[in-house]
Amino acid sequence: MHGPTAGSPTVLPSGKMVMWALAQVVGGPGSTISEVEAARGRTCGRGDRTQHAHKDDAVWHGAGKVVEQVAGLLNLDRSAVSGGGILAVDFYQSVMAQISALRARGCIADWRAGGRLGVFRLADPSRLPDIDPGGLRPPSYAGMSPDTSHAGLTKSFLSILSHGSKANTYKFALARAILEHCQGGYRGAGRDDDEEKEEERQSVLRIPYEYLAEKFLKYYWHQEYVLHMRQNYDAKHTPHAITKLRNVFGKSTPADYSRLDKNDVERAKKLILRNVFGHAKSKTSIVVPRFQKVPVGNRTAEVRSFYDYDDDEQAIRLKPEAFEFFQKNNALLSKAVLIEWTKFLEPLNPTLPRLLTKIESMDAGRQALTKYRSMFAPFTDCCFYCRDRLEPGYVQVDHLIPWTYIYDDNAWNLVLACQPCNGKKSNSLPEDEFRDGLVERNRRHRGEIPPLRMSLDMLDRGRGWEAEIRGHYQTCLEYGFGTIRLP
Ligand SMILES: [Zn+2]
Repeated sequence: MHGPTAGSPTVLPSGKMVMWALAQVVGGPGSTISEVEAARGRTCGRGDRTQHAHKDDAVWHGAGKVVEQVAGLLNLDRSAVSGGGILAVDFYQSVMAQISALRARGCIADWRAGGRLGVFRLADPSRLPDIDPGGLRPPSYAGMSPDTSHAGLTKSFLSILSHGSKANTYKFALARAILEHCQGGYRGAGRDDDEEKEEERQSVLRIPYEYLAEKFLKYYWHQEYVLHMRQNYDAKHTPHAITKLRNVFGKSTPADYSRLDKNDVERAKKLILRNVFGHAKSKTSIVVPRFQKVPVGNRTAEVRSFYDYDDDEQAIRLKPEAFEFFQKNNALLSKAVLIEWTKFLEPLNPTLPRLLTKIESMDAGRQALTKYRSMFAPFTDCCFYCRDRLEPGYVQVDHLIPWTYIYDDNAWNLVLACQPCNGKKSNSLPEDEFRDGLVERNRRHRGEIPPLRMSLDMLDRGRGWEAEIRGHYQTCLEYGFGTIRLP
């Protein structure tokens, strides 16, 4: 086969080629609907009356088959039209444009691309040779590689984030991990030795699946165990990245990633590696190929704008233009990823406060709470939980409803506690009586502590701050934050 050479424009012939292909496919064996069904090991549903009615008619099935057939007639390299790359997309579109023109002329009666089989049926095969090829605009193609200009990459990246697979959040995690990888750039820039420079550059373009798996582990562990976010409507469709974490870490883990058992972390990473980045042949390597799929007509095509990958080598290899793009626009692209990630999770977690901030901040820096200590000190000298007298210098400020749920330092939610109580409570909720105690405390001191009053006013959205506090406590429980008995 003679494929087009990279960079040289390929002009496809007129619509006559498409008609020729049509005639060949339709005239060839195995081309009735019944036969297509048999070949695919399935039958069309009872609702598909059109298909049933034409069971014995000659059909031209599958858009991919059409494209392949035309490519074969044009002697084009199969990999150029069916594999990755923009050529496949452009070629597909140009063939489909010609088919649409044939439909408009009444040469193709049924367009069942939306049906189960996706077949075309010729209205009248004998009319085919009469069509004037000059009436069909010949498609042209001006290059082989994807559009790697800044504008082209921006367009592809945003399209992947907002239009791609809606099954789970893997694509956001992958985009975030790649961006993190590209953050630092490559250090070879200042070196004199060109060979060394090139070597360093090549190594930076390669991202092992293992690196990606580790990032996935961190992101999902944080969302699952610290933030208690929901990842899906249906528990049956919980993503592997989450179910594997649950297998390893069970119900509760330390509230801090750095304190996790190293062996558990290693085990979880291996499971994610196998189940999310697994070998293509095991059909589990989903996220890496799927990421670059973009909608083309009524199907999707993989356009390798950003990277190539090798499942045997267990790594993706960034295209140099993509690396530069990710590096130069890192902050902006990261924001785009976080916004789209939030948009995906928002409907699943409608009552969870501060979703975007939570997703953005992996190990969010908490503010020092010292000013709140002096704010409450004049009014209390004992631990909110155990009522023991607080020793000056050992007073801690605690978020009664966990900070990881509220994600803010609101005076209304802060109490003074001793170290043992604060340490024991950690990321959990105290029992109801302490929620009631908090409401009581706020009512009593509202008039005396201006910042407390301000925080309660901000909380009040019409049904009163008291109801809001109870509401937060309840929602926090519902998201799976555990309660703990204190003191
Ligand atoms: Zn205490």
